[in-house]
Amino acid sequence: MTNIAILCSGGDVSGMNPAIKHFVEYALQKKLIPYFVYDGYEGLIDNKIVKAGYEDVAGIMIRGGTKIGSARSKRFMQPEYRTVAKQNLDTHNIDMLVVLGGDGSFRGLHAFYKEHGIKFCGVPSTIDNDINGTDYCLGVDTALNIIKVSIDAIRDTAASFRRAFVIETMGRDCGYLALISSLTSGAELCLIPEVEYDLASHEEEFKKQIKNGRRYFIAVVSEGIKQDSQEIADWFEQKIGIESRVSILGHLQRGGNPSTYDRLMAYKFVTYAIDGLLGSYEESVICYTKSGFEFKSIDEVVGKHKQLDSGLLTYLSKM
Ligand code: ADP
Repeated sequence: MTNIAILCSGGDVSGMNPAIKHFVEYALQKKLIPYFVYDGYEGLIDNKIVKAGYEDVAGIMIRGGTKIGSARSKRFMQPEYRTVAKQNLDTHNIDMLVVLGGDGSFRGLHAFYKEHGIKFCGVPSTIDNDINGTDYCLGVDTALNIIKVSIDAIRDTAASFRRAFVIETMGRDCGYLALISSLTSGAELCLIPEVEYDLASHEEEFKKQIKNGRRYFIAVVSEGIKQDSQEIADWFEQKIGIESRVSILGHLQRGGNPSTYDRLMAYKFVTYAIDGLLGSYEESVICYTKSGFEFKSIDEVVGKHKQLDSGLLTYLSKM
């Protein structure tokens, strides 16, 4: 019998639990013995490696987060700790890993493979959807749905009280969540780190709209823009003349019941990951693009900046 393990590394996303559930079920179907590594690379180093069965994944499909924990690990950056991790995997006779994580996690795996030959398949998992080489990362759809529900709710109160709401989404370097949420919620203003903006250019139009009866504004801004969300709210009060409030969605965006799409993508990503490891892919990331699922090398995925869809960016320039 061959052993295979799964771990989550870096930021958690909703969709990891459906992936873990399918990992166990599909591994057993393929006559493999599935293992969990708890708490990411920290768990590899501390030997938190445990055999898993159907009973461990019962009922987790509907839960956000990850049953096996996730972590960042400074120690895994150092070769001596990766040697400890390899020794721990050896004691369980494991030489294949499925890793749910982002860029940084894949970089770590690449080093681990080069030094110790542990085969891996990475499953892109981040709500920012900013991993190069894949159009979709696990967790994005659930995060977008949570933002959608939040903005819809805020719109109700904004309209009742004649207010401007500045809604801040996650995304330190990447405006994907803000851009898509703004477009799909009908926001009046969207600010993201990738695009220069000049608030003054909106003043005349926004004031005219108030004169013509507009009762509220929704601005969706990414946490990575050059100004604080409160400064944008102050601008609404001082320059547009409308009372305003800030709403920072924060970690709400990471949790929650996984959407149908994330459950389905978890199923597909993990199926490909296990099939790839059983086939000829020893170190790859399973990506989803217009051509379907493709195994890509670490070099294609890591260390390159992913561009936002230029077609969607034209939407911003017309605001
Ligand atoms: P993400 O995978 O979401 O991009 P991080 O960038 O925080 O998250 O990376 C997750 C973990 O991957 C780090 O805490 C570290 O243990 C490991 N890692 C990142 N870069 C490297 C590297 N160059 N070498 C070894 N391990 C790394």
